[in-house]
Amino acid sequence: MSRKSELLELAREIEACPFCRSWGRGMAVPGEGDPEAQIAFIGEAPGREEGGCGRPFVGRSGKLLRAMIREIGLGEKEVFISSPVQYLPRRRTSLKSNVLHSRTHLLKQLFIINPSIVVLLGKTACFALLDRNVEVIKEHGRVVVKAGRKYLITLHPAYAMRFPDGMKAFRHDFGELKKLIGR
Ligand code: URA
Repeated sequence: MSRKSELLELAREIEACPFCRSWGRGMAVPGEGDPEAQIAFIGEAPGREEGGCGRPFVGRSGKLLRAMIREIGLGEKEVFISSPVQYLPRRRTSLKSNVLHSRTHLLKQLFIINPSIVVLLGKTACFALLDRNVEVIKEHGRVVVKAGRKYLITLHPAYAMRFPDGMKAFRHDFGELKKLIGR
């Protein structure tokens, strides 16, 4: 089975997941991009716009993320964009129990794609994939190597848009990513 078919099957599993559907609303947002991507960007949870159309990072923070991806010379279609939580949470933020459940879908996705670099956009992505609470503002720009894969810690683009220092840090980290991928 091709990676594309495996991802499609996984997307169907997420759409039908009774646990996710019990606390999430809107459409499932299983992520999008190249099934063979070398770089994956992982956010937090879909917002209202994403839950309305089933695509990740299409709102304001998504516009910033996608612009930064292009700015460092990558194509939006050559990366994979996803999140640890695949449904818009009924409450404003995702509960830890929701993250612990729905990251299992993300882990399967990463297993299929097998990217060499994963960009962690904020605290929830760090918690889901590094298994610890990361003080992102202190640790941003750091690369953690885990099971042979590089994880770059950075801020969530929504935070970068809210705080000038956050934007500075976010831009700095994308500069580091550009070096890492040699573009
Ligand atoms: N924030 C996220 O983390 N993911 C999205 O898809 C949109 C906003």
